[in-house]
Amino acid sequence: MRRIAIIPGDGIGIEVTREAVRALETTRDCFGIELELVHFDWGAEKYLREHVSLPEGALEMFRRDFDAIFTGAFGDPRVESNRHAIDILGGLRFGLDLYINLRPVRLLNDRFTPLKSGNRRNIDFVVFRENTEGMYVNAGGNFKLGADQEIAIQEEINTRHGVDRIIRAAFAYARQHGRKRVTLADKSNVLTYGHGLWRRVFKAVASEYPDIDANAQYVDAMAMLMVLDPGQYEVIVTNNMFGDILTDLGAALQGGLGVAASANLHPGRVSLFEPVHGSAPDKAGRGIANPIGAIMTVAMMLDYLGYPDAARRIEQAIEDACDAGEVTIDLGGALSTAEAGAAICHRVGLR
Ligand code: ATP
Repeated sequence: MRRIAIIPGDGIGIEVTREAVRALETTRDCFGIELELVHFDWGAEKYLREHVSLPEGALEMFRRDFDAIFTGAFGDPRVESNRHAIDILGGLRFGLDLYINLRPVRLLNDRFTPLKSGNRRNIDFVVFRENTEGMYVNAGGNFKLGADQEIAIQEEINTRHGVDRIIRAAFAYARQHGRKRVTLADKSNVLTYGHGLWRRVFKAVASEYPDIDANAQYVDAMAMLMVLDPGQYEVIVTNNMFGDILTDLGAALQGGLGVAASANLHPGRVSLFEPVHGSAPDKAGRGIANPIGAIMTVAMMLDYLGYPDAARRIEQAIEDACDAGEVTIDLGGALSTAEAGAAICHRVGLR
């Protein structure tokens, strides 16, 4: 029996999670997988009502009692600086040491990409984003806050341990999935100390993988080449901030934030799965959010839990629904969130 925590969160997170759960339950029933889903109401409402974001003891509970966590999205204009979102997502990512943020960029249908020369053959890569260090560790401070002479310092943290494990994960994934090239994105020509470390570790790990072509690029060049020649990428490994930015670009290549899936992993431990998009307050409550990113995320979760056939079934159902034009408005269709989810679930059950 596998136990999965479901945290829909806020805004469209709630709407797409409903469809993701439906897809999960349909797949579970088709494949006879033993799954227990436990729902949590953490998010802006609870925070505003009870001042609780990530409840005390949550990390221990997940480590002890759960195999995976699925979240929708967090963010609400009523909560200042989205404090609750930082507490919950940041708390889980850092607290559970989920050092791999894995984001596949795969075009589901040629119609979805804004690239003139983009197609399903040349937009198909995965990004390994370091998830526990870099610019996002909140190290720094303000001196003379608000004054003309104000000084603001934001530190980037790169540890050999942290850099080594994410680069190793990328190469291991490449070998395991028959990918032939790993590309590092950094800015080592300017950030010579921190990103110099990335280059050195990348070279050392690459020497253990002679079967895989190791290629290092500056991130600015990569941003350009991802648009001009996305077919050269198979596996990308990079730091926290560059991964954040490049995967939004990647999401645009594959048809928008509504289709992008992600996993926050620590192999062998309870891990967290979430669509890439946020709570999209502009779309919330209107029944128009695209559920594909969330449902694709369910496929990643089933893969991680050891059910690759079930994962492939969901992926195929999504592709078939896209081919049939049974999609939401952001992809040029006319279906609501619930209808698009139902179309995918129907196809999961068909085979
Ligand atoms: P965050 O800071 O939480 O990542 P954000 O404000 O950067 O959030 P989103 O909330 O993801 O970004 O929204 C960015 C844009 O993409 C919005 O216009 C939103 O409506 C659109 N969008 C995001 N997710 C979806 C979806 N599932 N379906 C349709 N449109 C979406």
